Amino acid sequence: MSSLETQLRQMQRILAISHALVSNRSLDDILHQIVQVAAELTDCETAGILLAEDEPNTLRFVAVSLYEDRLFNLPVPIDASIAGTAFTRNQPIIANSPNADARYYSKIAELVNYPARSLLAVPLKFHDRKIGALEAENKNAPQRFDHADAQVLTALAAQATIAIENARQIERYKQLAQAQQELLRMTDALRDASTALTSTLDYDQVIDRILEQIAHVIPSDTCNMMLIETANIARVFRGRGYAPFGTAATLNTTTLNVAQVAGLRRMRETRRSIVVPDVTRDPTWVYSRPEHHWIRAYVGAPIIVRDQVVGFLNVMSATQGLYTETHGERLQAFANHAASAIANAQLYRQAQIEIAERSKVEAELRHHRDHLEEVVRARTAELEHLAITDSLTSVFNRRHLFILGEQAIEQARRYCHALAAMMIDIDHFKQVNDAHGHAAGDLLLKKLAEHLQANLRAADILGRYGGEEFVVLMPETDLETARQSAERLLADIRTVRLITETGPVGFTTSIGIALFVPQDNAGIDALIQRADRAMYAAKQAGRNRIFSEPVTDL
Ligand code: GH3
Ligand code: MG
Ligand code: MG
Repeated sequence: MSSLETQLRQMQRILAISHALVSNRSLDDILHQIVQVAAELTDCETAGILLAEDEPNTLRFVAVSLYEDRLFNLPVPIDASIAGTAFTRNQPIIANSPNADARYYSKIAELVNYPARSLLAVPLKFHDRKIGALEAENKNAPQRFDHADAQVLTALAAQATIAIENARQIERYKQLAQAQQELLRMTDALRDASTALTSTLDYDQVIDRILEQIAHVIPSDTCNMMLIETANIARVFRGRGYAPFGTAATLNTTTLNVAQVAGLRRMRETRRSIVVPDVTRDPTWVYSRPEHHWIRAYVGAPIIVRDQVVGFLNVMSATQGLYTETHGERLQAFANHAASAIANAQLYRQAQIEIAERSKVEAELRHHRDHLEEVVRARTAELEHLAITDSLTSVFNRRHLFILGEQAIEQARRYCHALAAMMIDIDHFKQVNDAHGHAAGDLLLKKLAEHLQANLRAADILGRYGGEEFVVLMPETDLETARQSAERLLADIRTVRLITETGPVGFTTSIGIALFVPQDNAGIDALIQRADRAMYAAKQAGRNRIFSEPVTDL
């Protein structure tokens, strides 16, 4: 069959395919294309590629031209197959009656429906490295292959190997890039978790943030944080992703016994994360509740605070085989963050308790002090009042009358205002005392003070000058106005009747008025003296009347 023409055509085809292979997208596409061309070039129904991977003494059947299914993957023992022999010996093997050949692998025969009558296998070599084998099978005729076919398939194998290695290299780069990306995401997530730790001392918030970040970098369906409550009981403290399973609201009713659940116990003992790629194959696996029977893969990490395992981070997936050691390491990094969050929150809570206690004591002290202050204020006001008040009549006492009097003089002088002074003395008071008793006299004094006060203006100053003598200082008041006020007083007082045991008592007063003279340098004493003189004149003139100073009968 191998005329020179045919060979030339074959070589052209191989050249053409080598371009196509290099530009191909994925390893699967490349493998598929190689087996198609191999079948075509060798004029066979079937061609296949076997690749050496990590398994010892095994090639993996990864592509067969008859099958569109790209995920073809069948282990073939090297020492029990013709392809394996080509691989081992590193040379083409022609088996023109493979049915009878013990090295022919029967599983392949099953797979391709009926056994091949002729079989050709060539090694796939990349430089000195053997990476697998390429084979062609003819199901119709024995003695089908010759040396020229082996040469053609070897030429295709050379191109195929380069394309496969290229694709693998690209895939490795992609994986590296992906890993790099993952690492960046992980770094970001850890940084965010740390930021969350320093930005708030709110425990719940920090834990939420950590669970959220875990979900970002570890693919999962649910994750949770468990805290050990008593020596052995761990309770779910917070979780994420449980809504679809209807257990979100009751999550914190979920408890596990650390001593009885092998995974938790191991994490507590070893203080390291664990990975269970397939929980259905782990005889020690325990489902915490029936709603979570969907779990297939698990990764967990212990949370260690001040050298104590205080809880666990648990991450679950419904995808079998999803987790590797890398996930365990990642989760441990998060668990360490969670641990410092817990440590900080505990310190914070402790500090809050202390602060609360301290402020309670402080509040009590403050209350006590406020009360004392109030008592002192009231007492001071009382004392101040007593110090300026006449105890019998409640008007200003003599001492305070003089203080206010000096101030009134000062004001009058500064602003050139008028200032009038009245001296009021009860007529024949001694007789009242004598006739009705001293107590009645006292009552009369009080009565007079009340009437005086009632008849004065707000600005007027009323004081008890002596025994039964009262002084009224009237700012901004001229003689005429003062006189009118005095008249009003006299008239009012005449009407007053004091009811005593010995009958009603009436009385009169004599009033002396003096006006402040601004040019005068005299003080309040002199002004009062002058009013007293006028009052004396009123007495002399027959009492129950008003005189002014210089002495005039008003
Ligand atoms: P006159 O009309 O001249 O003023 O006659 P009088 O009796 O009022 O005389 P005088 O002003 O000299 O006497 C004052 C009397 O007032 C003397 C004293 O017994 C009495 N007296 C002074 N202070 C008090 C007091 O606080 N209570 C009582 N009940 N009597 C007092
Ligand atoms: Mg008197
Ligand atoms: Mg008198």
